[in-house]
Amino acid sequence: MSEVTETLVMEVLATVVGPDGRRTLTEAGMISGVAIKERNVQFSIEIDPKDADRMEPIRKAAEAAVDGLDGVLSVTAILTAERAAPSAPSGDGAKAADAPPRPGRKSGPTGVANIVAVASGKGGVGKSTTAVNLALALKDLGLRIGLLDADVFGPSQPRMLGISGRPNSPDGKVLEPMENFGVKAMSIGFLISEDQPVVWRGPMVMGALQQMLADVAWGELDVLIVDMPPGTGDAQLTMAQNTPLAGAVIVSTPQDIALIDARKGLNMFRKVDVPVLGIIENMSVYVCPSCGHEAHIFGHGGARREAESLAVDFLGEIPLDIDIRTHADDGDPIVIAKPDSPHTKAYRDIATTIWSKLSGEAAESVRRAAPSIVVE
Ligand code: ADP
Repeated sequence: MSEVTETLVMEVLATVVGPDGRRTLTEAGMISGVAIKERNVQFSIEIDPKDADRMEPIRKAAEAAVDGLDGVLSVTAILTAERAAPSAPSGDGAKAADAPPRPGRKSGPTGVANIVAVASGKGGVGKSTTAVNLALALKDLGLRIGLLDADVFGPSQPRMLGISGRPNSPDGKVLEPMENFGVKAMSIGFLISEDQPVVWRGPMVMGALQQMLADVAWGELDVLIVDMPPGTGDAQLTMAQNTPLAGAVIVSTPQDIALIDARKGLNMFRKVDVPVLGIIENMSVYVCPSCGHEAHIFGHGGARREAESLAVDFLGEIPLDIDIRTHADDGDPIVIAKPDSPHTKAYRDIATTIWSKLSGEAAESVRRAAPSIVVE
């Protein structure tokens, strides 16, 4: 079986005619993000959003063309509208696209103001617990919040949010998000049964995330928290790259090893120009519930020191506490179950910092998108 290479993929895509009926997809410069992992191919077709309907057959044709290559196992082509539509070739009198490409954010689901990834360099550090409590703490600030469980390898948000059942889809295309505690939620866990094994390949992960972003009626949200799959592999990188993220929050435990992983997470977001809003140290201090003695089971302060040395903000620390675990695992997160506890306050303080950063970022992106004056 011959090797599947990017050159071969581009060659075959050079036979698919684009939306203008003249130039091929490659001639029109519409192909980006070709990723090949174990013979699974993924790429994006950059389109003008107004062409979305008529691009669907072209997307299918592009997938079919690549699928025809020897040795290809699966193909996922995604339509993206990240930048302004490719301009018409010079010389035919056509004007370049009216609006200049906007620096900064890619466009996300309409109505969602900020998408924030909660990520960790490795599993088991409490990323999902942090994501759900932050979502609830942000909601308590009076904001409209959604939680997208993109941790397709171990979706835990249905359990943590205490939601069961399946989402409705009145038109058979768009899913209505589930909701509890005033937070809208979508998870692959609502769509597959817990014991159903799913072998996720990189492109499938991306496809699932794209669908949960684009094909869910999120409505108007101030923040959509994305609980990312743990780690910094290709799937996570592609997600970070293709999702219009306003920022990322890294969750780490204090031990050195977890911090090394956290550093990888941080670098992944930096590589794709997503602002890292800061690091949270989870499972920080352990306070004995009977005697009040403080123990630093996983060490303490490592994330703060690491944040300093990496020039990224330290957002706060969450103790290792049995209440945090039991309430999260019982579908009644501590921010809801014990609103007056010091732990809830810790989540609220972090949520407040995140929101002030996002609202500052929003203002900054509006400034950046302001029209610039060009003197001809
Ligand atoms: P991840 O998403 O990083 O894999 P989870 O959020 O699922 O991690 O957490 C793993 C386990 O640790 C869960 O049982 C959770 O309840 C528990 N946990 C998370 N954070 C804390 C904490 N601060 N104190 C006590 N238990 C915690």
